[in-house]
Amino acid sequence: MTDLTGIVVTGSNNVFLVETPDGALRRCAIKGKILRGLEGYYNSLAPGDRVRMEPDAFREDQGSILGMEDRRNLFWRWNEKGKSVQAIAANLDLVACVASARLPPFRPRFVDRVAVTTELENLPLLIVLNKSDLGADPGTEERLADYRRIGYEILTCSAREGRGVEELRDRIRGLTTAFVGQSGAGKSSLLNALEPGLGFRVGEVSEKYERGRHTTTRSVMITLGDGVTRIVDTPGFRRLAIRGIPRDSLVACFPEMKPLAEGCGYGLACGHQDEPGCSVRAGVEEGLVHPDRYESYLRVRSELDQTLEYAKKSGRPRRDYIDDDE
Ligand code: GDP
Ligand code: ZN
Repeated sequence: MTDLTGIVVTGSNNVFLVETPDGALRRCAIKGKILRGLEGYYNSLAPGDRVRMEPDAFREDQGSILGMEDRRNLFWRWNEKGKSVQAIAANLDLVACVASARLPPFRPRFVDRVAVTTELENLPLLIVLNKSDLGADPGTEERLADYRRIGYEILTCSAREGRGVEELRDRIRGLTTAFVGQSGAGKSSLLNALEPGLGFRVGEVSEKYERGRHTTTRSVMITLGDGVTRIVDTPGFRRLAIRGIPRDSLVACFPEMKPLAEGCGYGLACGHQDEPGCSVRAGVEEGLVHPDRYESYLRVRSELDQTLEYAKKSGRPRRDYIDDDE
């Protein structure tokens, strides 16, 4: 049999559901142990990964994965348990961060962590503010205005009332978009509003993969009825840990701080934390950097610092400084 190229739809460990150009889904195991280049990842492949696969000669719904094409980009998080990068979705055109205006309250700290990840990967970010029917309080409006000011795109919608859904559908048409969000923000409701039954189809694909076991903890890629728009639905994260990146690269992931950091007299040696005369700190005082964004920077930075310290001391990361409310 000749090799095919396919795209990973869902999966974990060593078994993945792969869609081939004919539209068929095949359960595929990775041939050999670990794909080259993926050593040290928590998981090997993620939805959106393009692979070379070989169909099974006897069972047409099965096959083997022979290799992965280079990733254009990857949405990932740090897996605390595995102490490694967990791939969430690959080869994306856009990341949509679904947030809630109220109930649960808007959580800019989570948005900031998603934004750091998209900046690292050079991915455009769309902040989707759902539950607009409940109205946003002035504090939330002020934060949203600041995200706009620093260059992020925001779309306000209500899955319940259907407001903004058409705009969202237009924005993602023809693209591959990962939908991420904290649970309760209304991600599933929004997917169902985009296309009736979409949430159900996510469940169906997971089930096909799981063979009856019910889990909704994995990312799943689905194609909308138009045949060209792809969505990766991701599990509702409580928190996104960011580690495993050089700490000096962090400030560049905050677009409004980046030019200030480049002009900072301390140069690369500056942590932009409490160094007197630091340009980033001055930018906070002058209103160029929102204090809340700066606080997000400090928190992620201190996480990166502590990772280094604990790695040095014991070779093991510590969990007790993790603020789960973010
Ligand atoms: P998920 O965890 O992000 O997938 O969130 P769900 O889609 O399950 O929604 C969580 C809760 O928020 C449910 O009770 C939904 O009915 C509700 N919800 C979702 N979208 C909206 C909305 O636009 N407005 C309001 N008022 N409630 C919504
Ligand atoms: Zn500085």
